[in-house]
Amino acid sequence: VSKKSDKTPASPTAAPQHALHSYLDPQHLGPWGIYLQQIDRVTPYLGSLARWVETLKRPKRALIVDVPIELDNGTIAHFEGYRVQHNTSRGPGKGGVRFHQDVTLSEVMALSAWMSIKNAAVNVPYGGAKGGIRVDPRLLSAKELERLTRRYTSEIGIIIGPTKDIPAPDVNTNEKVMAWMMDTYSMNVGETATGVVTGKPVDVGGSLGRREATGRGVFTIACEAAHHIGLSIEGARVAVQGFGNVGGTAGKLFAEAGALVVAVQDHTGAIANDKGLNVPKLQEHVAKTGGVAGFKGGEAIKPADFWAAKCDIMIPAALEGQVTKDNAGKIKAKMLIEGANGPTTPEADDILHDKGVLVVPDVIANAGGVTVSYFEWVQDFSSFFWSEAEINARLAKIMKEAFAAIWHTAQQHQVSLRTATFIVACTRILHARDLRGLYP
Ligand code: GLU
Repeated sequence: VSKKSDKTPASPTAAPQHALHSYLDPQHLGPWGIYLQQIDRVTPYLGSLARWVETLKRPKRALIVDVPIELDNGTIAHFEGYRVQHNTSRGPGKGGVRFHQDVTLSEVMALSAWMSIKNAAVNVPYGGAKGGIRVDPRLLSAKELERLTRRYTSEIGIIIGPTKDIPAPDVNTNEKVMAWMMDTYSMNVGETATGVVTGKPVDVGGSLGRREATGRGVFTIACEAAHHIGLSIEGARVAVQGFGNVGGTAGKLFAEAGALVVAVQDHTGAIANDKGLNVPKLQEHVAKTGGVAGFKGGEAIKPADFWAAKCDIMIPAALEGQVTKDNAGKIKAKMLIEGANGPTTPEADDILHDKGVLVVPDVIANAGGVTVSYFEWVQDFSSFFWSEAEINARLAKIMKEAFAAIWHTAQQHQVSLRTATFIVACTRILHARDLRGLYP
């Protein structure tokens, strides 16, 4: 999109601040530091709203909770949990809950901030929030996982609620976990509060189409972007990292549209098939074995070779920090569609830009999930449920219109799609901040 690279400007226009806390320092390592650099890149485009930009560099509220549970063997284990509400200028906090052994406060802060940007980019009436527990859920039994989820929900119960902050699934959490969260919160408040979480099973206030929504949104956005660069989806070669809810669904939709899914990598290994992998069979294999390793319908490749796959579209749909300065140079794709949150480091972003790879950022590419979460929340409030066709049609409309506005902004300012998305989103957030003013 842009002819010049949008590197960090020399001096942000925000008022000078007192000594930087570590979390305000853009050199701060990890995803939160990356997010701060992204904000610095957008600041010159915010006009008079830039006076409010510091508000985006601090989470509104961050809660750290101890989550003790009794293990099946009778011992007590403690886990650290978090819920961060980054911004609530446009509405209640909204964002998923992640169970992963590498979860940290800094990571959850970044993920909550990206939710603020994402929700504003698709114009759903939410702020941004995220939660997580530092735990490897594969090491817990189903009963232990339930106790962990329930205790965590009780602990963060003081700040969540249908009009305050609405969790949803993220990495390693699913409909079952959401049902426990909804039940626990409901028991604590004394009434069934379906609207407290989204991504629930359909039988307890969930929405049709929510499970597939993130992957479907990734596919929709990829089609729109492909159209702009004159790439046909039919026959396009696609490589996907992560074959969970997002990567698996997106892969399935690409294959149905006539694309070839030629390489897939996940935490268990990597596989390739030049003629295109059989995606439904691969999904079955992953459901059965927990990963792509050992799939018979392709040849095993070295996980590092995944990045050099001969493809037109690459979709990182696993965790953050995957596309780095070390592997970005190998990428042969014409477009990188970020299904995961924060998969590309800023150095890698610049390398891809210089190579002419179109990067479609997470904050628009994977916004389909939270968009249908919004539909679920609206349906819960009205206790009136829509058909799947209606949901998918509304999802496509929102995604396409949001992408068109972002593309236009990128052209107008000659910036990357990431900076363009941040321009659209930060302008909305800070305009709301400006209209509301400061309390007291
Ligand atoms: N965890 C998803 C995301 O990162 C969905 C959040 C939601 O539906 O609230 O966008």
